[in-house]
Amino acid sequence: MPNPVIARIAVPLPLYNLFDYLLPDSSGHCLQKGCRVRVQFGKKQLVGIVVSLEAESDYPLSRLKPIIEIIDQQPVLPADLIKLLEWAAGYYHHPLGDVIFSALPKRLREGEGAELKQENHWSLTSEGHLCDAEDLKRAPKQAALLSYLQHSAELELTASQLNRDWDNWRSPLQGLKKKSLVSAELKIQNAGIASASVAEKAGKVHCELNPQQAIASQQLIEALGSYQTFLLQGITGSGKTEVYLEIIEHALQKNLQILVLVPEISLTPQLTRRFTQRLNTTIASLHSGLNDTQRHTAWVQASKGIARVVIGTRSALFTPLPDLGLIILDEEHDGSFKQQEGFRYHARDLALVRGRNRNVPVLLGSATPSFESLENVRQGQFTLLSLTQRGAAGAKPPKVSLLDVCRRPMDDGISDQLFKKIEEHLSRQGQVLLFLNRRGYAPLLMCHECGWTTACQRCDANMTLHHHNQRLRCHHCGYEKAAPTSCPDCGHESLYIPGAGTERIEVALTEKFPAVVISRIDRDTTRRKGELDKKLNQARSGEAQILIGTQMLAKGHDFPNVTLVGVLNADQGLFSADFRGTEHMAQLIIQVSGRVGRGEKAGEVIIQTHHPEHPLLHSLLETGYTGFAKTALIERKQASFPPFSYMVIVRCESIQKDNAIEFLKQCRESLNYQGVELFGPLPAPMERRAGRYRWQLILLSAERKNLHAILRHWVPEVHKLKAANKVRWSIDVDPQDMF
Ligand code: ADP
Ligand code: ZN
Ligand code: ZN
Repeated sequence: MPNPVIARIAVPLPLYNLFDYLLPDSSGHCLQKGCRVRVQFGKKQLVGIVVSLEAESDYPLSRLKPIIEIIDQQPVLPADLIKLLEWAAGYYHHPLGDVIFSALPKRLREGEGAELKQENHWSLTSEGHLCDAEDLKRAPKQAALLSYLQHSAELELTASQLNRDWDNWRSPLQGLKKKSLVSAELKIQNAGIASASVAEKAGKVHCELNPQQAIASQQLIEALGSYQTFLLQGITGSGKTEVYLEIIEHALQKNLQILVLVPEISLTPQLTRRFTQRLNTTIASLHSGLNDTQRHTAWVQASKGIARVVIGTRSALFTPLPDLGLIILDEEHDGSFKQQEGFRYHARDLALVRGRNRNVPVLLGSATPSFESLENVRQGQFTLLSLTQRGAAGAKPPKVSLLDVCRRPMDDGISDQLFKKIEEHLSRQGQVLLFLNRRGYAPLLMCHECGWTTACQRCDANMTLHHHNQRLRCHHCGYEKAAPTSCPDCGHESLYIPGAGTERIEVALTEKFPAVVISRIDRDTTRRKGELDKKLNQARSGEAQILIGTQMLAKGHDFPNVTLVGVLNADQGLFSADFRGTEHMAQLIIQVSGRVGRGEKAGEVIIQTHHPEHPLLHSLLETGYTGFAKTALIERKQASFPPFSYMVIVRCESIQKDNAIEFLKQCRESLNYQGVELFGPLPAPMERRAGRYRWQLILLSAERKNLHAILRHWVPEVHKLKAANKVRWSIDVDPQDMF
């Protein structure tokens, strides 16, 4: 190829085009694809990324602007990631610049250097270890610091550690250094990296894998070095994490890096802890709890090959890993792997693409796999590995039963039979976990005289009553106000409070069991930093005897003393407007049930329902998740919904309802949709939210290729529609929910 003269650059704007810039004369030829540059864009200077280097442009060179500055000598995004992101931009019909920049941590997006920061690590010299602090009497500050260093458990200390215990340590430390009692060494800053102490590691014994676990890990170990996708379906507590750890140890010995994706790290601190205890390597964790510096450091450490294992949430998928050898996605069915705004990608699906590009195996794990993955197994795309027994000796699957609550008094959300059961388990020193997917006290307030309800002014939804501060809050838009004590419409004195949320359950149980420690774990009680950890510890130790929680409690946690799980409202999912409603309900029930009987005590699960005859509930109880999925997948197939078809939603929202409808009408008219089923414009299941009307067009096709070919031509046309300027719109490929 002739010498490149221009760079094609992606900028962080929602634009589908790339932009050509002239290479600077002097440095042109060391610039590589994946490096950041600074360019003039209109009146602004932007950080851009070089996507390709070209010898020619479609524009006369005289009209092109030169690159202002080359930021990186080495690419921040290696070629394989650029390829993945280009693929993703095409598949999700999202602007490449936006896709690329959403893959970078904030500091790098802003143009900061991609080098690791170094800092001083201070330690005692051999003289320093031997020196008696008493000998430094004439320099009391130095003496105190020396004694501190001699008694510190750490072998070396950084500025941030010294700052914790000392106000002015710099000058006495310099004094000690002059006397050759301490030395300083520049080392790479170590933020964002978890590592267990030697003592913690020593306390951890490996358990021997059972035959099913051994087969699963063997298959994976043999697959290292080539692309293949495995679905590890193991009942909760069957030892999936042990299998991951075994495979990771092998991969580490082969000098490979491992990427582990999990739904939400702050909710699974135990998983991270098990990794750091077991693995003798540098682990970087990337999640929403990090500050920008920590995220930057963890990312750079991974990209330089210093961190060998990366554990992270969704967006960690885009971490550069030069020695990538294996991708693991835990709880693969979890909805949080799908980004629900902006660049709406699915981390599971992109993990497969990355695995294929890099020729490495991908392992998806779950007790309740998504229907998509089960269908991929059936078609022979994924290899199924099953774990059907609980890992720990003595741990048995719980007894699960339905509790018909029709015509039973249960104003506070708990039937009298369940109250009895709770009493029974408490008296036998068992711990009780109650699950309810609704926070607050009650989902609404109502007037029995005139029918008034607490409808939100801005949403098609009711405002939730919060008891502790007597306020109403809309969980969809955040609008809040004081709760009235009488009907604002007819003046009737008392208001009816139907239904129950976690707060009401807590109040009811506190009245019933005043001497029992009750802990409610939901977003309202865990807002403050550290609160969740505290509550989880309380739950694990058995100090809290009754746990009440939302889906925060459903997954990943190990509470060895729980003997009774009550699912208070299983019916929500049975009649959802979303075609995935029943799938999600079943997953949740199985996940919550998995919290019981993890220790030595036998456990039971009780599911309150108004529909004890519902066939899907029955198939779930009688045949387990796999049997349930078989039945539900037949229904799915008859309805031609995913995974038996491919869906795309064009979503539109506007303060003016007519504008939203008009835009979608124009969309529909401009679309040549041969071979694709088209529905809409239709209102979203919740039509109005935060003051905006939300409408949608749904495209459904049996052929993925055909659907995407149509979209590729069509999306640029949609941008040109007149009505597009008056609304917010987006394209959601493989949507995970309809709301
Ligand atoms: P999962 O990830 O499938 O929920 P875990 O890996 O957390 O399961 O295992 C559940 C429990 O069983 C853990 O306490 C774990 O230490 C234990 N366990 C797993 N495999 C074995 C085994 N082969 N022998 C003994 N205990 C095991
Ligand atoms: Zn009224
Ligand atoms: Zn609202």
